Amino acid sequence: MSQCPVIELRDVRFRWSSRSSFAISVPELQIEQGETVLLLGESGSGKSTLLSLMCGTVLADSGEVNVGGTNLNSLSGWARDRFRAEQIGIIFQQFNLLPFGTVLDNILLPLKFAPKRRARCPDAAAKAIEMCKLLGLPEGVEKSKAANLSVGQQQRVAVVRALIGEPPILIADEPTSSLDETSQENFLDLLFAQVAAQKSTLLMVSHDPRLASRFDRVVYMKDVVSVEGRQA
Ligand code: ADP
Ligand code: MG
Repeated sequence: MSQCPVIELRDVRFRWSSRSSFAISVPELQIEQGETVLLLGESGSGKSTLLSLMCGTVLADSGEVNVGGTNLNSLSGWARDRFRAEQIGIIFQQFNLLPFGTVLDNILLPLKFAPKRRARCPDAAAKAIEMCKLLGLPEGVEKSKAANLSVGQQQRVAVVRALIGEPPILIADEPTSSLDETSQENFLDLLFAQVAAQKSTLLMVSHDPRLASRFDRVVYMKDVVSVEGRQA
C-alpha cells in the first residue's frame, strides 16, 4: 500500500444552508490508496453528508477536500461532475437505478460522462454482462428493466455500475441496510473480491459494527467529525 492519501480532508467546515441547524467540521481525515475503510456512525451523525463532500456533490464552506491530489474546491461545477464520474464509483443506499432503463443502460451510464474511465473499458457492454454473471445475476438480465428486478438483484446491478471502468475509488453508502444477514455476507464477499481484483480504495458507510472485521480500518464518525448543534 502506498502512503499517498487518495482522499484527504483538512479543516473542513460545512453547513447545508445558513438556516440549517446541522453543521459539521472535520479537522483531518485521510484515506490511503488501496485501503478498505468502514465509516461507522449513528443515523443522523452526518455520514452521508461527509460522503457528499468527498464526492464533490456539495462543497466545503472552508478547508480542503482533496481527492486523488485534486482540491475539489478548485474545480468548476462541470469539471467536478466529470472528475467524480472518472474517479469514483458510487453505490447509493437506495441504489438510484433508473427504473425504466435496462440493466445495461444503468450500468453503462457513468461511462457516458467519463471518457478516461470509458477508455479503460473498451468493450464495456461485454464487460458489464460478464460482471453481472460473476455477481450471480441471471443470464439475459442486461435486457431487463431495472424496475422489474428484486432488491437483491438491483443491488448487484448498482455494484456493477460502480465498478465498471475500474474507478480508483469506491464509495458505498449503507449498501447492506436493506438486506438480511445471509444476503449481506454474500454481497460483501462479492464486493471485496471485486475491490481486490481492481485494487480500488473502498470507503463504506454503515451503522453496523459487525461488519468491522472485514475492513483494513474502521473510522468512527465521532472521532473525526464534530457536529455543531445550532437551533434553526
Ligand atoms: P447519516 O447519513 O449519518 O444518517 P446525514 O448526513 O444524512 O446523516 O444527515 C445529517 C444531517 O444533515 C441531518 O440533520 C439531515 O437532516 C441533514 N441533511 C442531510 N441531507 C441534507 C440535504 N440535502 N439538505 C439539507 N439537510 C440535509
Ligand atoms: Mg446516510
